[in-house]
Amino acid sequence: MSMVRIGVLKERADRRVTVLAPAGVEKLKDKAEIRVQRDAGRSAGFTNAAYEAAGATLVDTAEEVMENSDILLSYDHHYEGGAINGNKTFIGTFNFLWTPENVERYLRPGVSAFSLDLIPRSTLAQAMDVLSSVGSISGYQAVLLAAERSLATVPMITSAGGTLRPAQFLVMGAGVAGLQAIATARRLGAVVKAYDVRAASKEEVQSLGATFIEVGGAVADSKGTGYASQQSDEFLKKIRDRIFEETSKADVVITTARVPGRKAPLLLTEEMVNGMKPGAVVVDIAAATGGNCALTQADKVVMHNEVTILGPSSIECSCAHSTSFLLSNNYVAFIEYMLKHQEKLAEDPILKSTLVVQNGKSVNERIMALKAAVN
Ligand code: NAD
Repeated sequence: MSMVRIGVLKERADRRVTVLAPAGVEKLKDKAEIRVQRDAGRSAGFTNAAYEAAGATLVDTAEEVMENSDILLSYDHHYEGGAINGNKTFIGTFNFLWTPENVERYLRPGVSAFSLDLIPRSTLAQAMDVLSSVGSISGYQAVLLAAERSLATVPMITSAGGTLRPAQFLVMGAGVAGLQAIATARRLGAVVKAYDVRAASKEEVQSLGATFIEVGGAVADSKGTGYASQQSDEFLKKIRDRIFEETSKADVVITTARVPGRKAPLLLTEEMVNGMKPGAVVVDIAAATGGNCALTQADKVVMHNEVTILGPSSIECSCAHSTSFLLSNNYVAFIEYMLKHQEKLAEDPILKSTLVVQNGKSVNERIMALKAAVN
């Protein structure tokens, strides 16, 4: 039997990441013929020579990769919906929950698409969880960005001119990204406070040496999805009053709160920013889904009075090498799993959750429910 053919597409120049590192080629080469678009890993620090040494064949254009592969790997969308030869399966991090209209382009006979941001939060699927990989790097990077922008140092520094007090950080949203932000800020010597609507995050926040900010009345994740639930307006108002107090004391505010498939919750109002200290910095990593701060503009530096607000929409791409290393492991784990279980596509919980288009048909229940709600 001939081996499956896997192709790796080069991402847009501003993305910098790749979803298959040379180490990933090594892992898959006994199961698949692998073609990599020339320079696909270059801005992530993986050379063409390294891919060849690992066993991949370099190909010059995206068209050639598409033409000669059964499975196409990428981070973003590269297929626009044109004519294809044979069957193609696209595997990416396509973010259909936020942009369900992008499903349309895959609705062609012979085309299937899996989106790895839909991986269920189960122990079995953990190694494939791209959102956790991206979250960890984003939280880390947000702290570095804030520290660099800040007019004040982060740790306590005692010097000839006196003593600089440690910076006060406030982290909103203590999921994967928020916890990594807390850990990074603590390592830099900041005093950190954090809050989340999920009560379960309290212990995690405290174990990292940060103070957990509590307000009663949050709606719990009753379905046990591991994600936050939509909160009531009353609760959001209560938390805003408490957060108002905390933001006025903070040197840095990092916001990471998201609810899958919905606009990010508004946590930092204009009034709160008005009350912040001159020179304070906000890094809003929920910017790609509307932002947690009312003044965030994705990928722009906003100066509001003396407060700087940053809303990087793909902050994970600044640490392209590390992000690619993690993504590559996630993608390899998924591909190995898919090749092993593809006969049971309709029943398998991991494959079923991530499969969005099957042979030209929209099949994902979560995405279809979302589209139905919009229409
Ligand atoms: P996420 O990116 O969807 O959201 C980030 C954080 O924002 C979450 O902690 C969420 O509770 C919080 N948030 C949402 N609305 C908020 C609001 N109004 N105010 C304050 N905070 C708000 O979530 P995530 O970081 O990807 O992970 C969420 C949870 O899932 C974590 O407990 C994580 O440990 C868990 N998880 C489990 C697995 C697994 O079991 N395989 C994998 C990854 C993550």
